Amino acid sequence: MTFAEMDGMPDMEQTPQIFAGCLSSYEDARTVLFGVPYETASRRRSGADIAPQAMRNESVRMETFSPYMRVDMTDCLICDAGDLELPSGAEPALDTIESFCGKVHDDGKMPVMLGGEHIVTLGAVRAAASRWPDLAVLHFDAHADLKREFMGETFVGYTMMRRVWDLVGDGRIYQFGVRSGSKEEFSWAMGHVRMETVSANSIDSCAEAVLSRPVYITIDLDVIDPAELPGTGMPEAGGMSFHALYDALSSLSGLDVVGFDICELSPGYDDSGTSTALACKLLREMLIAYSCS
Ligand code: MN
Ligand code: MN
Repeated sequence: MTFAEMDGMPDMEQTPQIFAGCLSSYEDARTVLFGVPYETASRRRSGADIAPQAMRNESVRMETFSPYMRVDMTDCLICDAGDLELPSGAEPALDTIESFCGKVHDDGKMPVMLGGEHIVTLGAVRAAASRWPDLAVLHFDAHADLKREFMGETFVGYTMMRRVWDLVGDGRIYQFGVRSGSKEEFSWAMGHVRMETVSANSIDSCAEAVLSRPVYITIDLDVIDPAELPGTGMPEAGGMSFHALYDALSSLSGLDVVGFDICELSPGYDDSGTSTALACKLLREMLIAYSCS
């Protein structure tokens, strides 16, 4: 039986290969990686929709062994389920993501999503929040993503965390690395979310606060400095280093992580391929840290 033939699963597009090290079948997997090649058509700087496949292509050059954790991805039970086939429009696409993640949760596995524009996170968080009402959401991003709407749109990257707040409410969202947003977003954040600007120095107190709760982690790759990762749609100077982000994410490895995603890689803005390679390495480390312990 192929993955797409499984009862109740959305159709998957055929993909020529899997992400390196994700050798498990769906049935045996503890962790299910999948791509969401979604992007709002009107976006000015585009290309996030090709990120999942670009990462798979790049991953053939990556070692599956983590020298940091001394674990090989091939010893973890990870399945690459391919890319979700999405209906057109944000809301139908989000419904598809939610139902896929819900199925993965209900099968006792962890969904790991590769975006795509950052709004895709909302679909995954909906699935998790409906199963774990006390879910905490940890958000690494250069941008606050707290706009109530943007140019008349309510389901775009700029509004993503505000839509997550609509679901989970006050005190459940922790933001790190934020260095761009409107005056309204920053003042609204004061009463509703815990936001650390620029860095993630408060990660240990966050980890302590969410220790007994299920956690969803979302990474917008523009949290990293554009000198290290120029391949993203909205580069924002003054960002975190890979090492700082890695250290922060390592502090979360003891938590009950029920899902995570990596979004907003736009490979076309970095001809060197460095940004895609960085994203692959980050994914490897997160997969090992959160699903292989
Ligand atoms: Mn961003
Ligand atoms: Mn974002």
